[in-house]
Amino acid sequence: MSAQWIDDKLESSARVQNSMKIEREDHKLEKRLCREVGRAIVDFNMIEEGDKVMVCVSGGKDSYAMLDILLKLQKRAPINFELVAVNLDQKQPGFPEHVLPEYLSKLGVPFHIENQDTYSIVTRVIPEGKTLCSLCSRLRRGILYRVAGELGCTKVALGHHRDDMLQTFFLNMFFAAKLKGMPPKLVSDDGKNIVIRPMAYVAEKDLTRWAQVRDFPIIPCTLCGSQENLQRKQVGNMLREWEKKHPGRLENMFSALQNIVPSHLMDNKRHDFKGIKATGVADADGDKAFDAEDFTEPSIPGLSVIALKPR
Ligand code: SF4
Repeated sequence: MSAQWIDDKLESSARVQNSMKIEREDHKLEKRLCREVGRAIVDFNMIEEGDKVMVCVSGGKDSYAMLDILLKLQKRAPINFELVAVNLDQKQPGFPEHVLPEYLSKLGVPFHIENQDTYSIVTRVIPEGKTLCSLCSRLRRGILYRVAGELGCTKVALGHHRDDMLQTFFLNMFFAAKLKGMPPKLVSDDGKNIVIRPMAYVAEKDLTRWAQVRDFPIIPCTLCGSQENLQRKQVGNMLREWEKKHPGRLENMFSALQNIVPSHLMDNKRHDFKGIKATGVADADGDKAFDAEDFTEPSIPGLSVIALKPR
């Protein structure tokens, strides 16, 4: 038995152990994704018996993951609902139009490709050097709502995730002076469709990993040649930086979106400040006047906060 033989054996055993560990991690990730998507669907009653859900698929990692997880949940759900994947081919130069039909056919999911040359309209109407996104997305929205009606869909599912929702919240605060986020479920602005975001609870890093695990045939999103939204990019970087320095902060901010206290904000439309009268009844949520607020650190998995007695 040579030293080389022993080295080779040790190396191959380490390789096997490593690949088993990766497999276990991927399995845990799949369970987490299904759990979080399922939880959002239940919390906001996103999908009901008999629904036909139009799953908007762009060729990016988020929408591939949404379709993938919804198909898994569909098999084990206690209710019956249909899924139809829809892609809008906007005729951007170099768009690989065979990729999605091939992928969706292989999956065996019903699908529809809507061909509409919005790219030509947008590049004709918008002066060179200006961003194309606002008109492009407005056209896309109108077309997808129309297609949903034509296909008889009762819900339109979009692939936005937790980080998109947080970014939108800060973009609205910084640039539109509004406390407003991206809703998990809302009637569309044409009043005809119910838009749902089943991945509302899912962290983007999980989707990035899942796209690698599943080897989705990603279509690049730069084909239109438009600049990426600079403000969204900045806010995304800001949030990532915060999370790096203060793990758990994103989770806390996201929970805050589900835990609003209008009486402690300043919107006269949400709380009747002018009509306030003392009730004479103690209320833990009442104003604590001069008391300092008690802010505990965000919880970090594996760590717990221990209150120390004063000496
Ligand atoms: S990035 Fe391109 S495809 Fe996306 S909204 Fe902007 S112009 Fe349209």
